Amino acid sequence: MYFSHPFYNLKQKYDNLLLKQNCPYLYGMKIELIDTGFFYADGGAMFGAIPKTAWRRRYPSDDANGCILAMRSLLVTTDDGRIILIDTGAGNKHLRLLSYYRFFDLADLPEALAGQGIRPEQVTDVVLTHLHFDHCGYATRYNADGGLTVTFPNARHWVSRSQWENFLTPNALEKDSYFPENMIPVKEAGLLQLITEDTVLSPAVDLHIYDGHTPGQIVPYIHTPERTLVFAGDVIPLAASISPEWISAYDTYPVTSYNEKIRLLEKAANDNQAIIFCHDAYTSCATVKKAGKSFVKITNYELRITN
Ligand SMILES: [Zn+2]
Repeated sequence: MYFSHPFYNLKQKYDNLLLKQNCPYLYGMKIELIDTGFFYADGGAMFGAIPKTAWRRRYPSDDANGCILAMRSLLVTTDDGRIILIDTGAGNKHLRLLSYYRFFDLADLPEALAGQGIRPEQVTDVVLTHLHFDHCGYATRYNADGGLTVTFPNARHWVSRSQWENFLTPNALEKDSYFPENMIPVKEAGLLQLITEDTVLSPAVDLHIYDGHTPGQIVPYIHTPERTLVFAGDVIPLAASISPEWISAYDTYPVTSYNEKIRLLEKAANDNQAIIFCHDAYTSCATVKKAGKSFVKITNYELRITN
């Protein structure tokens, strides 16, 4: 079933290009990417003012201009006993309402975590880059009685205060991307942890705030002995979005997005950080370098660190 979609033929081609470059042995630390599922987004929307003649060379699309997007979560188990989940995908509560996006191969997130030997109750921290449905959907789920329940009952859920306020009183452009039932039960359970500035979550993970796509996105930085990994979220959703002016039409404040991308990329290039692209179905992670006024991907980076 899993490999039936034609997308996988294409993905195989990209995987073959991947330069395998495993991180060194990391005692006590485990980092695992989890694909929570895929959907189609309109290519024009993803690349904004960039003409298709340009973006089609960087990202495949189908006859209806649909681009396949991943929804990646990152699981980080640290040597100080934290089990940190970054983003949760779209979940399964609103799929009928969102059928336009043609979701496929959606994972049951608790099941996917069980595959890593982790029960939802063991997760200590859920970091939500922002609260659009494709990032926080699995923060809650329906239980057997049809009631809403938090998926990770013992986890602090990290969200920026400006994102939370935007979620409570959304602007006209973003209101359809927010579903109260994804997050209000988290708040009511006392599990919401709001931050207003860059914050250290654990010695291995700190949280930085970036604006643009939406106010107050959290970008987690995960420090490994080899390099720092940057979970860029929708600040840079695809490897094709590395060029600062390649800004999605979904970005609420495009000029801010432009400046914030440069801020993130400058540091990534200078410090040889690897960027994780949460929505890129073909390239999950890469290092970057500066090229004139822009930036380019230099090495696809296989992100799979286990001890
Ligand atoms: Zn997104």
